[in-house]
Amino acid sequence: MNLSSASASSHSLALYGWDEDWAAEFTVYADQGLVPGRVVRVDRGQCDVVTPDGIVRADTEFVVPRDPMKVVCTGDWAAVDPEDGDPRYVRTLLPRRTAFVRSTSSKRSEGQILAANVDHAVVAVSLAVELDLGRVERFLALAWESGAQPAVVLTKADLVPDPVTLGHLVQDVETTAPGVPVLTVSALHGDGLDTLVALVGSGTSVLLGQSGAGKSTLANALVGEDVMDVRAARDVDGKGRHTTTTRNLLPLPSGGVLIDTPGLRGVGLFDAEGGVGQVFSEIEELAVQCRFQDCAHESEPGCAVRSALESGDLPVRRLESYRKLMRENQWIVAKTDARLRAEIKKDWKRKGAQGRAAMEAKRGRRQ
Ligand code: GDP
Ligand code: ZN
Repeated sequence: MNLSSASASSHSLALYGWDEDWAAEFTVYADQGLVPGRVVRVDRGQCDVVTPDGIVRADTEFVVPRDPMKVVCTGDWAAVDPEDGDPRYVRTLLPRRTAFVRSTSSKRSEGQILAANVDHAVVAVSLAVELDLGRVERFLALAWESGAQPAVVLTKADLVPDPVTLGHLVQDVETTAPGVPVLTVSALHGDGLDTLVALVGSGTSVLLGQSGAGKSTLANALVGEDVMDVRAARDVDGKGRHTTTTRNLLPLPSGGVLIDTPGLRGVGLFDAEGGVGQVFSEIEELAVQCRFQDCAHESEPGCAVRSALESGDLPVRRLESYRKLMRENQWIVAKTDARLRAEIKKDWKRKGAQGRAAMEAKRGRRQ
């Protein structure tokens, strides 16, 4: 790649989050004549990659290994065959900075990557219904776990016209989410949207939250056009067959990139023990001061968590929430491991059967 095309590529890909660090990581592939691009959509062995020459349909065969964590996913930065390649392959993926992983899946025990290289995880929480702080904590746990920076957006603020009440609600969430920015937005009136636009104005963002929280409305407001229309745009693939293109990664008009995948919409709790700890950092900090290292904060002497409960520094709800999330998380991990064990057993049985068959075949030949 010569200098002028390199700068041209950095110019167009910058809209999709390309920066100097990605460029530096890519140098070795540029030397091999490969083209950089970001995956905007994945389906059945192929993906759409936005490159300096526009959107390219590429085969993912080269990077689909046994490890599902290495499967191409929306948000990945890829090295793609140059224009004359037919078909064009994704040759490799640049190491991910962050990743949203779902560890519970009905079919397999391994994790499933939902989005890669996300900088901001924006948790949408509706003010139209009673605040469920436990749910906020759950979404924050998976945001932290991904490596992205979480933020909370309280949506439909027009439904809470009293500023004092609104202030209390914000405070409740701020207490629940130490160190996490909490914004209020009304998509109806446009109030607070500028703050959100600024927050997602650099890097890549995802919107998390319960169905009805106002994510689609926010996405439309951020993108500045109907995302649903964008989704329905028709395209012709290499085989001349019409397919509905779902572009799951969109550049925002005031900067930044939004990833909106159906998989991320309905996320439950993943394997997020580390994330749970970050959401409940004050409890973890107290626990360090307990006399016993493995204190369960039940009836042990010298328990800093219980004394914080007694003094009122730590709300009971908060500890219960923490315990519930930890239990749930352990259950998911245990379930995953059980599946893994069953799979390993099945594999041994299969190998055993093959071995026996081979032995019998040998014996048969000898006789
Ligand atoms: P999603 O399921 O999270 O994508 O939520 P939607 O964006 O579909 O919004 C759910 C409902 O909330 C829709 O009926 C929206 O019209 C409504 N809604 C979204 N934003 C606002 C808002 O700022 N104010 C009010 N009053 N309603 C809103
Ligand atoms: Zn304790």
